[in-house]
Amino acid sequence: MRTPRDTPEITLVGAGLAGSLLAIFLARRGHRVTLLERRLDPRKAAGSAGRSINLALANRGITALEEVGVMEGLRSALIPMAGRMLHDEEGRLRLIPYGNKPHEVIYSVSREGLNSLLLNAAEATGRVSIWFGETVCGVNFDDRQARVLTGKEPEQKTTPYDVLIGTDGSASAVRAAILEQTGGRLDEEPLGHGYKELSIPAAGGGGGGGWFRMERNALHIWPRGEYMLIALPNVDGSFTATLFLPNQGDESFQALTTPEAVYTLFERRFADAIALMPRLVEDFFGNPTGHLETIRCEPWSFEDHALVLGDAAHAIVPFHGQGMNAAFEDCSAFDRCLSDPDRPWSEIFADFEKRRRRDTDAIADMALENYVEMRSTVREPKFQLKKDLSFRLEERHPGRFIPRYSMVMFHTIPYAEAKRRGAIQEGILDALTSGAASLDEVDLARADRLIAERLGTG
Ligand SMILES: Cc1cc2nc3c(=O)[nH]c(=O)nc-3n(C[C@H](O)[C@H](O)[C@H](O)COP(=O)(O)OP(=O)(O)OC[C@H]3O[C@@H](n4cnc5c(N)ncnc54)[C@H](O)[C@@H]3O)c2cc1C
Repeated sequence: MRTPRDTPEITLVGAGLAGSLLAIFLARRGHRVTLLERRLDPRKAAGSAGRSINLALANRGITALEEVGVMEGLRSALIPMAGRMLHDEEGRLRLIPYGNKPHEVIYSVSREGLNSLLLNAAEATGRVSIWFGETVCGVNFDDRQARVLTGKEPEQKTTPYDVLIGTDGSASAVRAAILEQTGGRLDEEPLGHGYKELSIPAAGGGGGGGWFRMERNALHIWPRGEYMLIALPNVDGSFTATLFLPNQGDESFQALTTPEAVYTLFERRFADAIALMPRLVEDFFGNPTGHLETIRCEPWSFEDHALVLGDAAHAIVPFHGQGMNAAFEDCSAFDRCLSDPDRPWSEIFADFEKRRRRDTDAIADMALENYVEMRSTVREPKFQLKKDLSFRLEERHPGRFIPRYSMVMFHTIPYAEAKRRGAIQEGILDALTSGAASLDEVDLARADRLIAERLGTG
């Protein structure tokens, strides 16, 4: 373990999900940590999180939270989601389980609640100080100073740092400074689709919450081909729904400029949802339209000065529910890079990037693929057949054939390996289901042979 005496103070920019968790990991290694956060304290200022009120937490995130001992304190705030509840256009429901075993569920969690819990745990270490209302707008690498805007009528000041880590999200100022200093590369890939948050209040109402108007232990999806609506449960009995839609075109955010246009779309395509959304129009025109993109950049660090991590290094589209989970896995991976107390920071940063880049590139790709699955493929009978077959093959070949979704959500198999094995498995599933209409028609002896050939016998 590094001791406080031989470790520099670390300045983290951004006290969101990654920043607040990383602060705990660093404090446990003996570092003093200063967190600079542009927002007001979410524990005091209601509704300042800005986007996605709730999130899906899965195994990778849980593993990192367990490592710093905060998971037990979170359990009562989690709602297990056992599968996707599909809503078709006639309002018929069908549950597609996520996993093959009872514990294979993901959890809906409040972003603000989780952030607050992590901030409290960071402060409880006694080594972390958090400064809210401080926006980093640049870095002077020559004299190791961060430029910070602070106050109601913002004034610029400089804050010295020993080591600077940007956990400042997808529009990272630290990333911009690193790329400018190094002449690095920024690759921004807009999705062309945006999102809008809408609410489904609890039945029974009242300040203390009521009961759920739909199955609570599921992630609800209204897949409509080119777009979709989803909803995740909250502990107060409400759901937060998110409409994902193209930015432009006949059915797009650009086309929804009047309450009539919004109602018409919902009545036509989401008829069972509209009945649950008394504030549809207020939400639609009151909430911002979010932008979605994939961000890749290189390098993630500059010498022994600065590093970016979480969305600041690799923002992804939200369709695998993995952005936060990957950011938490980053924190845990970075912590492992610190195990040798004599290692220089420049080496630690380079090692972290080397360990993580392939994996974060892989989850970025898989997240994009999952949008097509969620909004479209999930409706096809072939999808259900392949899902059923993949569970059957997992039972026949435990540890060797693991559905790709399960590798990503319920295991900590590196993302790049999950993607590689997932592609081989997809080939096997395609071969076995070609011409088959049901599981009974699948040749399981051939399945065993293909798995032995392509995935090995070990
Ligand atoms: C609609 C939607 C749904 C999502 N659903 C899921 C999901 O179900 N599961 C999942 O795992 N992930 C999900 N994600 C992704 C997840 O939100 C992000 O991956 C995660 O928040 C990344 O954490 P972070 O700490 O790196 O960045 P952020 O959470 O963005 O935190 C960055 C922090 O830095 C602060 N900051 C920014 N700039 C500055 C600055 N210049 N100076 C000081 N402070 C600054 C911000 O105020 C913020 O507090 C979703 C994302 C979206 C948009």
